[in-house]
Amino acid sequence: MKLLENKVAIITGASRGIGEAIALKFAEHGAHVAFTYLSSDERAKALEEKLIALGVKAKGYKCDAGDYKSTEDLATEVLKTFGTIDICVNNAGISKDNLLLRLTPEQWDDVMQANLRSVYNLTRQVIKPMMKARSGSIINLSSIVGIKGNGGQSAYAASKAGVIGFTKSIAQEMGTRNIRCNAIAPGFIETDMTHYLKGDGAEKWFEKIPLGRFGKPEEVADTALFLASGMSNYITGQVISVCGGMNM
Ligand code: NAP
Repeated sequence: MKLLENKVAIITGASRGIGEAIALKFAEHGAHVAFTYLSSDERAKALEEKLIALGVKAKGYKCDAGDYKSTEDLATEVLKTFGTIDICVNNAGISKDNLLLRLTPEQWDDVMQANLRSVYNLTRQVIKPMMKARSGSIINLSSIVGIKGNGGQSAYAASKAGVIGFTKSIAQEMGTRNIRCNAIAPGFIETDMTHYLKGDGAEKWFEKIPLGRFGKPEEVADTALFLASGMSNYITGQVISVCGGMNM
């Protein structure tokens, strides 16, 4: 059964990792997909082709999610091409890890811009068509680090905790308009972002994970599919951890 037949989804940061897995999962379930990326032109082109081969409309947009004007232009273009926006996944994100004494103001600002400001930027654009349609699902990528904190990741953790506060606020503001807003809090997922953790010392991380392994991007995409679809129609303002049991 296809869960998103003819829905239109916009996904930020889908040229790699979790965003790419969500784009493919949504398209497999019949959604038309507009997605963004920052610099991976070739990977974005390849994804666009893969999505179209699944029989849906798809287009990749080079757009800095942290820049308000760019996201405004993006939403205008997507509405022109796709007609509406039913689902928004704010996935784009970066990590710049450093102990606080070494964390520069520039690093702090970069992380906030890419991880938190970006979520405000695009959400503010997509609620307009969603209010018109009196329906919508917004899914924000947080992290278990945003719930528990993590030494050496204060900027990243603060940005991801901010995503949770934003998510719950939008859920309250938009509930009567039938617009839902939820967050996903992944643990360690196998992508470029966590690549540096693998190798010789991987076992020490596995010990901290009850399921004993890193997660796969597709396993986060399954949760995004659930939150995007009618299967979660009565769920809003929630944070779902996809972390192999790390958050207990
Ligand atoms: P990733 O493999 O590093 O991919 C990041 C994606 O975001 C890429 O497509 C990148 O585009 C894009 N991007 C980065 N900055 C952007 C910007 N300013 N504007 C538009 N696109 C931008 O990351 P990931 O591991 O899939 O993570 C996806 C999300 O899940 C992030 O929000 C991350 O914080 C969150 N998360 C990940 C993990 C994990 O273990 N991997 C755990 C918890 C939360 P380019 O390819 O063009 O650079």
